[in-house]
Amino acid sequence: MCFYMAKLENYITGEWITGDGEGQVLYDAVTGEEIARATTLGLDFASILDYGRRVGNPALREMTFHERGRMLRALAVYLNERKEKFYPVSYRTGATKLDSWIDIEGGFGNLFSNASLRRKFPDLPYCTDGDPIGLSKGGTFIGHHILVPKEGIAIHINAYNFPVWGMLEKCAVNWLAGVPAVVKPATITSYLTEAVVKEIIASGILPAGALQLICGSAGDILDHVTSQDVITFTGSASTGLKLRSHPKVLNESVPFNMEADSLNAIVLGEDVDPNMPEWDIFIKEVRKEMTVKAGQKCTAIRRIFVPQNKMEEVWKAIASSLQQTTIGNPLNEKVRMGSLAGQGQRQEVKQQVQKLLASSQIVYGSMDSVDVIDADPNKGAFLSPLLLLNEKPFASTAVHEVEAFGPVSTIMPYKNADEAIQLSKKGKGSLCSTIVTANNKMATDYIVGAGTYHGRMLVLNAECAKESTGHGSPLPMLVHGGPGRAGGGEEMGGIRGVKHYMQRVAIQGSPTAITAITKVYQQNAKGNLSTIHPFKKYFEELEIGDQIITEKRLITSEDIDRFADLSGDHFYAHLKETDFSGTMFEKQVAHGYFMMSVAAGLFVDSYEKNPVLLNYGIDELRFTKPVYTGAEIHIRFTCKEKIPQDLKEANDIPKGIVKWLVEMIDETNEQVGIATILTMVKRKS
Ligand code: NDP
Repeated sequence: MCFYMAKLENYITGEWITGDGEGQVLYDAVTGEEIARATTLGLDFASILDYGRRVGNPALREMTFHERGRMLRALAVYLNERKEKFYPVSYRTGATKLDSWIDIEGGFGNLFSNASLRRKFPDLPYCTDGDPIGLSKGGTFIGHHILVPKEGIAIHINAYNFPVWGMLEKCAVNWLAGVPAVVKPATITSYLTEAVVKEIIASGILPAGALQLICGSAGDILDHVTSQDVITFTGSASTGLKLRSHPKVLNESVPFNMEADSLNAIVLGEDVDPNMPEWDIFIKEVRKEMTVKAGQKCTAIRRIFVPQNKMEEVWKAIASSLQQTTIGNPLNEKVRMGSLAGQGQRQEVKQQVQKLLASSQIVYGSMDSVDVIDADPNKGAFLSPLLLLNEKPFASTAVHEVEAFGPVSTIMPYKNADEAIQLSKKGKGSLCSTIVTANNKMATDYIVGAGTYHGRMLVLNAECAKESTGHGSPLPMLVHGGPGRAGGGEEMGGIRGVKHYMQRVAIQGSPTAITAITKVYQQNAKGNLSTIHPFKKYFEELEIGDQIITEKRLITSEDIDRFADLSGDHFYAHLKETDFSGTMFEKQVAHGYFMMSVAAGLFVDSYEKNPVLLNYGIDELRFTKPVYTGAEIHIRFTCKEKIPQDLKEANDIPKGIVKWLVEMIDETNEQVGIATILTMVKRKS
């Protein structure tokens, strides 16, 4: 072993650079061996942020959501092909194969998931938010909201427990939004983040400046933030508070998203007995949450609430389940729980457990000894799972406030459903909470009663357990974050997450101006009346606002009778014999779906093949005024929005989705119905 270990490199301002000085020594969590050194001494943090804003930001913000999404997908594929490289590095953090899979492939999965999210956005660099709002009687003045990418840089300060996922779950979101990132992983496991960033940069998939990495201290980075930047922090509440209250962060009103300590709770429903499948589901979930990642998970279950008459039976079942967990070197295939991330972390966990022991007792495990395979328990940062019991959870605050960030959890009794809710709230805000019950009334009471204190809640029972993603898995499509102690943040969450990196702007103007800006046709905007039917145009040729106004069609009683017979819909309002007194109608009224069919009959153009491949469905459909016999209906048919589609296979027909606004208008010029329909339209190339 060489005496002076290699320094990790920082990727900044487009170059791999090592910091000055000897740096912090990083150790293998399993063997205690020195791995590398990390230092950021001498780095110019102002220029790092400036480079991201100046070079990375314009490159990303000019790309459309679809281009950014395809970039994420390409990166995910590239990294996935090289995933085997990262496992041996991950084992050195003390992570087992499963733990590493969550971190590594979970991280790549996040890229895939956010890549797919592009389909929910337009093929533009910015997007609308919500629906247009009418602001005038005459319809010439409306409001809307758009989201534009911020002009700054995302600064991610991450925790040590997920060196890969922690980076990618955040970066996937800011990249999709069009904002670059500088990632500062927790120093002790930054060698794994560095290994992945090396591959990301080598891929050449990201534009210059989209990603920078600093391995080591964050230096004076926060002295240089501006209001266009976004800071995300994952780590301890105390560091979070310090960073969040940094004068520059406060002065510039820099958005600060925090994920901190979380005393997550699981509740065993009062209905669950040992002979029910939910009993085993509960025991298994608790064991999994205590041992995966050796309990170093922000979402891990720290508090276990059980009906008081079942306490002994439950803790004994958990203890015997924990007994079966093999602990040791992750390289050994039999190992189910690895080590903590380092000796410092083990020491910290023990200190936290000591605090808990003032009001609780250990019913499983030992603070001082642990049986491990293929490793030295003294050199590696191993710790036995510790199940604590606290008989008086209302009298004790430590159990709801002290987080031991390791394989540690405390079981506590409750008397009734209301007590379970009150106890779960005593954690003062958590990332997630689970109730295991087969009784949906209990589940509803718990979710509604305790929902204000948890970011995500899982109802686990036999119906979903097999396919459940589990208590501890944050998912890219769902909100991850929690109120109060959990930091008050909200990262990920599909479209919600992306919005953190964009500025919401209320815009006001004429429907025609708002159409031009949003690239979505707004009702009452000027259309482009053309002699060529829009169905004759290819995807590329169509323009938002392309419009036709159709012939009129007279609606007769015979039409309505025939439609009733054909569809089988003989609702009384459509029958001329009906006595209409006391109904909503004056006389025989046309079926709404008949009006939609009449509309199609009017706007569909020809018998010949044209670029329209198929009718894809209806987004919105409203019948706004009854149509009686004798009405004369015509249609204003307008190209509303265009969404390109990728080719799925080489022999796919190149095409896109086109949304059309269908306005059904009667002889008095009043609207009787409105719809947004979708078609698939061929591309020329
Ligand atoms: P810290 O708060 O010490 O560190 C978190 C991150 O902040 C690290 O990247 C760290 O860098 C950085 N940091 C620390 N001080 C500063 C500073 N002054 N300026 C800028 N950055 C700074 O937490 P730990 O990593 O020690 O984790 C301990 C606790 O974090 C756990 O006990 C747990 O409560 C919580 N945690 C919460 C998670 C969640 O998602 N909610 C996940 C993981 C941990 P460096 O490594 O260089 O010190």
